[in-house]
Amino acid sequence: MNILVINCGSSSLKYQLIDSESEKVLAKGLCERIGIDNSAITHQPEGGEKKTEQINMPDHTVAVKLVIDKLTDKEVGVIGSLDEIGAVGHRIVHGGEKFASSVVITGEVLKQVEECNDLAPLHNPANLVGIHSCREVMPNVPMVGVFDTAFHQTMPKKAYMYGLPYEYYEKYKVRRYGFHGTSHDFVSKRAAEILGKDRKELKIIVCHLGNGASVSAVKNGESVDTSMGLTPLEGLIMGTRSGDMDPAIISFLADKEKLTAEEVINICNKKSGVLGLSGGISSDFRDLGQAAAQGDGMAKDALEAYAYRVGKYIGAYAAAMNGVDVIAFTAGIGENNIEVRGMIGEYIGFLGANINQEKNKVRGEEAILSDEGAKVTVMLIPTNEELAIARETARLVG
Ligand code: AMP
Repeated sequence: MNILVINCGSSSLKYQLIDSESEKVLAKGLCERIGIDNSAITHQPEGGEKKTEQINMPDHTVAVKLVIDKLTDKEVGVIGSLDEIGAVGHRIVHGGEKFASSVVITGEVLKQVEECNDLAPLHNPANLVGIHSCREVMPNVPMVGVFDTAFHQTMPKKAYMYGLPYEYYEKYKVRRYGFHGTSHDFVSKRAAEILGKDRKELKIIVCHLGNGASVSAVKNGESVDTSMGLTPLEGLIMGTRSGDMDPAIISFLADKEKLTAEEVINICNKKSGVLGLSGGISSDFRDLGQAAAQGDGMAKDALEAYAYRVGKYIGAYAAAMNGVDVIAFTAGIGENNIEVRGMIGEYIGFLGANINQEKNKVRGEEAILSDEGAKVTVMLIPTNEELAIARETARLVG
């Protein structure tokens, strides 16, 4: 069955058409600047050329129609008609406590997702717009929602509760939810597969290190803790997000800089992380690596703080699970950044883990990075959230 995977943002829409049997990507692309000037669609059929075209896209429904036009186009298309799309899988960021797994989308489900909008005001409304647009254009095609938060719903209460008055959990559901769940699930499953072991018998720490980044503790196949919280701001130092910090900093800075709490949080989300720490050099680790190699002290400090924070979380999660068998690196930095992985390796020796310098010279492919016979296996496993969404969709619709 051909599955169309949709990841919809407020002004963008990423898509992949995946054959669920062969798991091949038949075509992929991106609509950008939807509802803004200069909107453009980039489309690439399997084995074909990637082409960007400027086309007016006043809203997401127009964007979805354009995606279908491209997929069925005589020249750059890969299917004959809409009938060849068996199902659509949607990425949904926040499922709150309502969704502990993927679901077939119905009117009732949409209402429940809408009730989670408060928890992810930047993401969920955009995801919903994508779903409504797809339902408009493809009213007879079944659709599935796959939640970033679902995999972490197995966390025990001691891991997901904050030390706040209990009434805020009862009234507003303030708690840790965690994100990147689809990736943490996919990578931990794949780690067990590669090692020929049952995930239910392993303690795995997954380090999803992309522009947004999170660590998770996966014990016996279930997420038992993760570094992102109520929102994706908590945890690691990220590209532009601060991660963990003293919450009193918010009112302190609001007072000093004459800002509202919301404005300070915006700074914590968009101007902090390695971008802020490096004095504004970049949020991109390639730029930071280059600057550090040329002797820039602030870039070096930012990278050191980043690696240190990841190392601390690995130590914490080894304690949370009372041991660790596998540490897996994934996402842009985890898959490609040899230097940063090497720096994180400096913090894991006490666990009986190591990153072998020679084996670490690898990017973007599955690999074991630790010495043979090491107590803990350190692995590189490329994530594939779109494939995971396609698999979930095929499982529920198939
Ligand atoms: P993601 O959000 O998963 O796409 O990850 C983006 C981050 O991965 C950016 O900071 C990139 O600099 C980093 N990244 C991607 N490719 C490389 C590479 N070849 N070397 C170093 N960092 C990389």
